[in-house]
Amino acid sequence: DRTAVNRVVTDQILDPLRGVRSAFSEKRQHGHLAILAGSRGMPGALAMAVRAALQSGVGLVTVFAPESVVSQLACTLPEAMWRTWPETPEGGLALEGLWQIKSIAGKATALLVGPGMGNEAETQALLCEVGRYWNKPAVLDADALRPEVVDSFLASELILTPHDGEFKRLASVDEVSDADVLGYAKERGLTLVKKGSSTRVCDGEALYVNPTGNAVLSRGGSGDLLAGLMAGLLAEGSGSSTEVACRAVYWHGKAADLLAVSKGQVATRTTDLLDYLVPALRGDA
Ligand code: AMP
Ligand code: MG
Repeated sequence: DRTAVNRVVTDQILDPLRGVRSAFSEKRQHGHLAILAGSRGMPGALAMAVRAALQSGVGLVTVFAPESVVSQLACTLPEAMWRTWPETPEGGLALEGLWQIKSIAGKATALLVGPGMGNEAETQALLCEVGRYWNKPAVLDADALRPEVVDSFLASELILTPHDGEFKRLASVDEVSDADVLGYAKERGLTLVKKGSSTRVCDGEALYVNPTGNAVLSRGGSGDLLAGLMAGLLAEGSGSSTEVACRAVYWHGKAADLLAVSKGQVATRTTDLLDYLVPALRGDA
């Protein structure tokens, strides 16, 4: 059945983030995101995901990363809680750290896995174990987007964020069509964000086209920022996984549009986008 409805995401998707918080608001009411990512050779992807998560509105962020990565990043991103994870000889996340996921499972409200993780066999095996254990909402990005890992995740609220290459690897297809994206999401009962110059969010029932974003995003790290932002919104519980995915891609793209107007598309850096999350939320045109 490929007769799903097409819809376009509108600016109203950001409304739930725009109100003033209750004066009695407490950090734990705003969710607790756990992030499992990074490797010695790719600390930057993790750093960008964490920075975006810290600006998503989520109450608490705990990051699990290899020892060498924590020692580099912890002081530069002090708002997150950093936990060292045993490291493989190549600098990736080792299997023996699995108990730490069991220890955070009672506290965290969502999990992000993938950015900068690399594709070492041991780390991939670890992800499969995490997937069998984790039963709360989760976002899988980048190196976590492999068929065995996705199949191991039993979480009911699952969001995948592949670009074309990652989707082809997941679905074993040579070309990417909306029908493939719909079929994949429906068969597995998850939310799929197919990233690209025109990003689609799909849960098998409906396909949402995101109208924001531009080529300023075609530089390394744009996807890591999106993953962190989306996972933070998911942890905060700002809606269903499909709503959260639409909210994140719209907000990320709107920030990119304001960035391009203000600084152009060339002499900018990926993390400049973070400064435009505020005007995007304010509704600047
Ligand atoms: P990744 O490839 O994982 O770094 O993700 C790239 C991010 O930038 C995704 O959110 C894409 O939708 C976005 N992006 C990349 N190129 C463009 C483009 N030409 N126009 C709009 N968005 C883009
Ligand atoms: Mg990516």
